[in-house]
Amino acid sequence: MKQIGVHVGTAGGVWTAVDRAVAAGANTFQIFSASPRMWKASPVKPADAKKMAELRAKHDVNPVAVHASYLINLCSQTESVRANSIAAFRGEVERALDLGAEFLVLHPGSWKGLTREQGLTYAAQSIERAIEGIDFSKAASPGKDFRILIENTAGAEFSLGGKLEQVAELVECLKACAPVGVCLDTCHVHVAGYDIVTTDGYIETMKLVESTVGFEAVKVWHCNDAKAAMGSKLDRHEHIGEGTIGAEAFRRLLHDARFDHCAFIAETPVDNPGDEARNVGVLRALAAG
Ligand SMILES: [Zn+2]
Ligand SMILES: [Zn+2]
Repeated sequence: MKQIGVHVGTAGGVWTAVDRAVAAGANTFQIFSASPRMWKASPVKPADAKKMAELRAKHDVNPVAVHASYLINLCSQTESVRANSIAAFRGEVERALDLGAEFLVLHPGSWKGLTREQGLTYAAQSIERAIEGIDFSKAASPGKDFRILIENTAGAEFSLGGKLEQVAELVECLKACAPVGVCLDTCHVHVAGYDIVTTDGYIETMKLVESTVGFEAVKVWHCNDAKAAMGSKLDRHEHIGEGTIGAEAFRRLLHDARFDHCAFIAETPVDNPGDEARNVGVLRALAAG
């Protein structure tokens, strides 16, 4: 069975995410391990992590991704912001490891006030500093290695990672010092200007994926339809099949054997109760037929 899931909430305790995911028909999911819009975060309580591991084992839910806080900008030109970001990102890594998550998804950041090259260097150095001394072997699920996944972005001005080459470059910089991989977001790919909608466009875009980040490095696909047009740089997620990407593009992606090892996780809007389950259901149906 394909690993298909959705971003879920953690209200009532981090382990409740497993129940939410299972209720939505998911066998993988993503969470925030703290409020994504606050600097302050509490460490993971061992009892909570234990509960989560038990529930995951019971329902066979794999892998689990944690999405890092939106406040983190590891390539900020402002030293205080960068210092806060490094400390916050270290907390993200520690919490992800304590939770036994397989992946921690990170946006590379905004290089406003710098050159793109400086931004890239800052991001790599900040990540290296943030993970200094962390023992990655304590990742809680045996046989599974923990990875920091660099997510491609919508390509707004100064945003690092709008181009696949930039994601690849950052991964290359980090390879020696950190367990890294890639998360590709369909909405970001599309609005950044890569065609995944037409058959020919998809072939071309995947050639670029292969020659930049490579298929094996991609561990998670964020499956989001888009409200905005291809190339618009506007990051507005839409329900699967109801946006400018459309159902057929998701069917093609889900049937692409080069991504059989990936988890497909929706970050679609929750406009009405049950929307998580509906989007997982649509992805499952597309994967099946
Ligand atoms: Zn993201
Ligand atoms: Zn995403």
